[in-house]
Amino acid sequence: MILQSLTVIKLILMDVDGTLTDSRRAISTKAIEAMRMAQDNGLKVSLVSGNVIPVMYSLRVFIGLEAPVFGENGGVMIDDTGVRSFFGIEKPRKLLERLLEEGLATDLITNQWRYCSMGYGPTGKDNARIRKMAQDSGVEITNSGFSWHILNPGQNKGFALKWLMDHYSIRENEAMVIGDNFNDLPMFMDKVVKGAPANAEKELREISDIVSEIPYGEGTADLILRVLSDKI
Ligand code: CA
Repeated sequence: MILQSLTVIKLILMDVDGTLTDSRRAISTKAIEAMRMAQDNGLKVSLVSGNVIPVMYSLRVFIGLEAPVFGENGGVMIDDTGVRSFFGIEKPRKLLERLLEEGLATDLITNQWRYCSMGYGPTGKDNARIRKMAQDSGVEITNSGFSWHILNPGQNKGFALKWLMDHYSIRENEAMVIGDNFNDLPMFMDKVVKGAPANAEKELREISDIVSEIPYGEGTADLILRVLSDKI
């Protein structure tokens, strides 16, 4: 799409790992400063990650975000009123139990804090069988590049974006998303303004409206500041 102006943007929704952080998951202080600046300028600033709600809660509190933020790939949200899960945990839990029994996956410490998905460590064994078992169980498998997740159908970052646009009555061309990996594709919708730091997968960079020459969190900070200064 051809961008007329970035001044119409009212909401920025961002991935966390690899988008706000570096490759080792240390968060960029420049990205934090840029997010605060965007919020101070009246934009809604939100996060969506495969990570668990206690982590998203902490990011929201300590970065100082006012908008709700989403964990478990968009399946669960936290705001000032509490936690809201949009999907069930039964199917993902059942599949994880079977994978553990068969030695196809290892458990994650964060699974005790999940509401509607399960994470696992891959053993490198029989990925095709895992995918077949997921299909038979009516769940989906995603890999964020940092970890593997078992999700319900429709539980993705696009769900979180749609929820926010509906909640704030924001149109697609007034929303911006920033992400680096394939699990961000569901929120890289047609009319939404799409941004990618330099480390993002090629497929994401190719469909993005703005690509930073800088990788990781500093690249995302660059994108946010370009929105605020209306420079593509
Ligand atoms: Ca990521």
